[in-house]
Amino acid sequence: MYPRLIVDLNKLKWNFDVLAKRLKDFGIAVMAVTKGIGADQRVVELAVNHPDIAFLADSRISNLKKYAETARRSGKQTVLLRLPMHTEVSDVVRYADISLNSELSTVRMLNAAAESQGTRHKVVLMLDMGDLREGMIFTDERAIFELCRNVLALPNIELHGVGVNLTCYGGVIPSDQNLGTFCKIAERIEAKFGIRLNLVSGGNSSSIPLALSGKMPKKVNNLRLGEALLLGKETAYGGAIEGCFCDAVQLEAQIVELKIKPSVPIGDIGLVAFGEKPAFTDKGEIARAIVAIGRQDTNIDGLVPADCGITVLGASSDHTILDITGSENDYSVGDTVRFGLTYGAMLGAAVSSYVDKVYI
Ligand SMILES: *Cc1c(COP(=O)(O)O)cnc(C)c1O
Repeated sequence: MYPRLIVDLNKLKWNFDVLAKRLKDFGIAVMAVTKGIGADQRVVELAVNHPDIAFLADSRISNLKKYAETARRSGKQTVLLRLPMHTEVSDVVRYADISLNSELSTVRMLNAAAESQGTRHKVVLMLDMGDLREGMIFTDERAIFELCRNVLALPNIELHGVGVNLTCYGGVIPSDQNLGTFCKIAERIEAKFGIRLNLVSGGNSSSIPLALSGKMPKKVNNLRLGEALLLGKETAYGGAIEGCFCDAVQLEAQIVELKIKPSVPIGDIGLVAFGEKPAFTDKGEIARAIVAIGRQDTNIDGLVPADCGITVLGASSDHTILDITGSENDYSVGDTVRFGLTYGAMLGAAVSSYVDKVYI
């Protein structure tokens, strides 16, 4: 069945091994983030069976629900990455051992849910070190301490650690400076309340360059990794991580038309399928292939043809048009074309019910 995602489990395992081992040398544990591949069952199994991966994390409780039992049976903890919605707190307590939080009202509701389920729930408080997505802003230490004090007063909540998220909204790059401040705040929380923070989570795949350069502040003992594990890329500068596979997850689509046609449309130009006004460069007649995949299946802008003689010209909901003029391969209708994926394209394809999955 096409289109299909090709998931190379050996390459993924290799990436898991390489990153877990290298980071372990710096005292950093890996939290495997599953949302980029739609919490795919086989990939989840890989993380669950990996001796050096202690946590499995996702931003959606519906994904954690799918694998919480398997993960726990293997002694792994499940983590909810997105701040919980008020309306999902009882599922959060049920399926996540740990959740990331920044709002007292939510933590109080988690406390009530934990009480009624006869359990304790671990929270990691998020500190915003300038990227301006979630978390208590680092410049207001009084408010951070106040939140800690209130959280520590809740009998069914354990203040398990602190976390930071960077390079997501503001594009702020992790540095020894901003993460150094983050660690200082963690130390001051510990000193002020006489507690130990078990988890000091220093970010996502954008923290990889800092961590692998050995300059990560020592207090950071955890990173939450999606893209680095799945696509072998760090996300501070968008570079490939040395020794990791960038092609562990690829996409294949089938050619349904192959014709020589002009490169510029003929007629007055209005709007295209998704509302933009298109622009074209006249390259004369070109060999055009239509593959059976479209914007309904994935983020087409994130498709990178494995054959470097191919360029993606554009797409509508169900059709993607390729210029194959420069390719050395002799394609026919019915052949398939393979694409590397950006994180966004992988995520889109992984959760699409129109995209099949095969494992090698
Ligand atoms: C998605 C997410 C991650 C993982 O990000 P990657 O860049 O894929 O490593 C980490 N932390 C949080 C809070 C997230 O939402």
